[in-house]
Amino acid sequence: MTREESLQFVRYALPSARRATNGGRLLLVPLSQVRSFARLAVGHTNQHFSGLTAAIALKYAGHDVLVLEKEATLGRSDVIPRAGIRLPPNGCKVLFDWGLEDALRARSIAGEGFTAWKYQGLEGERDFLGTHRWPPELLTDAHGDFLQLLHKDLLQVLYDAALAAHTIPKGSNGSPVVIRFNAEIIDSDLSDASSPSVTLSSGDVLHANVIIGADGARGHFRQKLLAEENQDTDADVPRGLAVYTATIPKARALTEPAIAKLYDYPQSKMVTFWVGPNRGAQVFVAGREQGLTFWVYTPDSDQDGSWTEPSERPLTEVLGDCDPLIERLAQLATSPATCVQIKNSHHLESWVSSSSNVVLLGEAAHPFPTVSLHTYSIAIEDGAFIGKIFSHTRNASRIREFMNAFEEVRKPRCSHIYQSEKTYIDVMALPDSPMQQARDSAMRANDAAGRNLMDSGDEDSLQTMWDDMRMVFDYHPADAADDWWMAWGRLRSLSEARNDLEDFS
Ligand SMILES: Cc1cc2nc3c(=O)[nH]c(=O)nc-3n(C[C@H](O)[C@H](O)[C@H](O)COP(=O)(O)OP(=O)(O)OC[C@H]3O[C@@H](n4cnc5c(N)ncnc54)[C@H](O)[C@@H]3O)c2cc1C
Repeated sequence: MTREESLQFVRYALPSARRATNGGRLLLVPLSQVRSFARLAVGHTNQHFSGLTAAIALKYAGHDVLVLEKEATLGRSDVIPRAGIRLPPNGCKVLFDWGLEDALRARSIAGEGFTAWKYQGLEGERDFLGTHRWPPELLTDAHGDFLQLLHKDLLQVLYDAALAAHTIPKGSNGSPVVIRFNAEIIDSDLSDASSPSVTLSSGDVLHANVIIGADGARGHFRQKLLAEENQDTDADVPRGLAVYTATIPKARALTEPAIAKLYDYPQSKMVTFWVGPNRGAQVFVAGREQGLTFWVYTPDSDQDGSWTEPSERPLTEVLGDCDPLIERLAQLATSPATCVQIKNSHHLESWVSSSSNVVLLGEAAHPFPTVSLHTYSIAIEDGAFIGKIFSHTRNASRIREFMNAFEEVRKPRCSHIYQSEKTYIDVMALPDSPMQQARDSAMRANDAAGRNLMDSGDEDSLQTMWDDMRMVFDYHPADAADDWWMAWGRLRSLSEARNDLEDFS
């Protein structure tokens, strides 16, 4: 094989061979001659999902990681409702691969699908549209599940994994991930291209080779990159819907016969959701304690609230005309609801700072609509990708190339999924209109024919839907990072190694 042929092989054959084995793990050892064996010092900005996942993956890759968190405790458990979240297969398989499957399953319910109902009901009664079950072959191929667990439990699993990451033999360099609480970033200096720094409220100034800005949609680093692009800091525009989140403990839910039915199988493993007009709602059982998490999408969006403050208006006042079960759920909710607006997010031209080694990920890079199916899985994918790609270098001169690769590979996927999440909300909250009638008729027709709610009788559309689901759920961020490495990143290492050999001779 000539050198050109071997490069072609590296570029094309290996990634496809790996895809052919259906995403099986292939651990790559960089063959490049690494110029510096110093570990990269990576500064983080938060201890939430994208940040913790990146911290774990970067530590597995052998780098030094410092995580900075403005709150005093993990997840501010004193204020957040013990709300449930959904973690689809593309998110949970990353964590399964890291040995966290038992910890996650012990705290989760594996969802089997959803049932859909009309939000307003029909003449004071409930109005059923149909059922959708996740096809078992989809889950088998995706190597994951649709887990329903509590936000705080996922956070705890990731936090424990981050603290233990240095003990995992594959990437251990002996030093643990350091997580500093009460470490609010109030400023940053990106004037030095290779040594960005942050200033904390304590006055400490910290430098790093790379800063991973994972501080959320309203965090410092999204603002900083918006400013670099001369954008308004309020670039994310309210869509006119807010999501109220409330919870109901199982014991309390069982006191009400209509609500207790949510615990009968198969409904116990189904998300119940309600559609439009201009509204929506969902309820599902989540976590080890099996409480109910209840989301109401309402046009009452005066408050630009957050996950850490109670809603200004009680949930019972923002329901509008609704299915009697929705009303009863709102009455039974015990925790104060939170109210978080859904925004159409501004798409940053670049997730990488133009002046220094700072890259955004998670909600800081690409905020998703509130309580999207992929809120957590995409944050986890981002973190896992960045760690995997940085496993290929200790060479500080390649940092920008790797940050740009992260953006280049991840952006199309994140944009695609963002768009489908946005469409899902638009379809759910369709106003009374011929389109809404067409949506409901299609769902009812599927139900009458014994088909899944979202199916289509038309073979081509069904195939397109299947292809899209496979693209979304079968994805593995470590494979995507390795594909980039094999196709592009490694070429430079090979040519540098060759130059070094030539220099040496
Ligand atoms: C307390 C809390 C509860 C949530 N509950 C839910 C829920 O129940 N359901 C749901 O769908 N979504 C919830 N979310 C949102 C969800 O966590 C995110 O949308 C998603 O996980 C993507 O996370 P991320 O890591 O990109 O950003 P985020 O989860 O927003 O994390 C950002 C982190 O950065 C920290 N931070 C921000 N600014 C600074 C600063 N200046 N200095 C240092 N640290 C900073 C924050 O404290 C936070 O830990 C919640 C978010 C928070 C912060």
